[in-house]
Amino acid sequence: MLRWIDVLKYAKYSNPEPPQRVEKTEDAWRQQLTPAQFQVLRQHATEPPYRNAYCRSYEPGAYVCAGCRSRLFDSGEKYHAISGWPSFKQPVSKSALRYLFDDSYHLQRIEVRCNVCDGHLGHVFPDGPEPTGLRYCINSASLVRKDPEK
Ligand SMILES: [Zn+2]
Repeated sequence: MLRWIDVLKYAKYSNPEPPQRVEKTEDAWRQQLTPAQFQVLRQHATEPPYRNAYCRSYEPGAYVCAGCRSRLFDSGEKYHAISGWPSFKQPVSKSALRYLFDDSYHLQRIEVRCNVCDGHLGHVFPDGPEPTGLRYCINSASLVRKDPEK
């Protein structure tokens, strides 16, 4: 189980090795992704609060990266954070995500990216529910929900 201290260590020293890497040119990403997906994943945009696909959706399933289809989060870790974006308590594994310090907008935040394709997902904050205390605040456009396998 990841805690804030683990996230800080990853961001400060080094992130876990990904299971594999997917690298493409920005042009290739632009052709593959929808404009909204491209803006979030590749240009680090933040989509509008509440007006996004998974903010209030609690259907069961796995959330995969909209860029490379790596599994990132499970619906069982999703919770209602009243933030306007889908929020999760934990990723599916320690190696699913990578963490970077983000000082943009004069805020000290920790950015969360897909560890396989380096796509921007959102940020993680230390004000989530117990026992992990983590709140992964993720853009819906960076995710695709898959129905549970039968
Ligand atoms: Zn990815």
